[in-house]
Amino acid sequence: MVLGAPGAGKGTQAVQFAQKYGIPKISTGDILREAVQAETELGNRAKATMDAGGLVDDQLMIAIVRERLVRHDVAAGFVLDGFPRTVTQATALDEIMTGLGALIVVDIAVPDDALVGRLARRRVCGECGHATSVDDGAHCVRCGGELVLRSDDTESVVRERLRVYAEATKPLVDYYSSRPTFRAVNGAQSPEDVGSELLLAVEGALRALSTGNVVEEAGA
Ligand code: AMP
Repeated sequence: MVLGAPGAGKGTQAVQFAQKYGIPKISTGDILREAVQAETELGNRAKATMDAGGLVDDQLMIAIVRERLVRHDVAAGFVLDGFPRTVTQATALDEIMTGLGALIVVDIAVPDDALVGRLARRRVCGECGHATSVDDGAHCVRCGGELVLRSDDTESVVRERLRVYAEATKPLVDYYSSRPTFRAVNGAQSPEDVGSELLLAVEGALRALSTGNVVEEAGA
């Protein structure tokens, strides 16, 4: 799974890693955004919290991930992006992973001052969700859709998301860092270089596992 602050590049790296290994990417942010768009009960419950930059209720998030991880497509591994975000979620994930294989955790580390600027420049495709930068023009390179500002990338919400990250999610680095399958990569470089470092990190973590029976992999 991928750890990192908002704007660290988790989603971008998770997509690429999942594609490379042919495994599903499970992003709780994407699941929630789809639910908001479809106006399901989950979406209606989560919308106000997401718009304010807060965290959706732990038990709800744990139930979503628990349900997702019983599907057969995760058998050969998966990339988890955006979950866990609290120690309560991390504890639940350890329990959910019992029998599913080892959890590899990659933290994408980016200095705080770089994150605000990145998030201000971030744009997403309104059609396919591809993440890009305001510097890349007005249309998506993948599908031609219009690029838009994510509704929670406005300055005040970004500030709140970074505060929530520091308070609730950053402690997960301590939670995981003593594990032999924990790796940190330098997120303050080009997406291509982060991707290369991340692949090496995952390969190193896989080697560190003595059983050789790993079914879960990490992206960023
Ligand atoms: P993301 O796309 O990962 O930045 O997630 C967007 C928003 O969805 C977050 O700011 C939260 O409001 C919510 N969210 C996503 N994943 C979680 C989670 N694991 N726990 C709580 N809230 C979440």
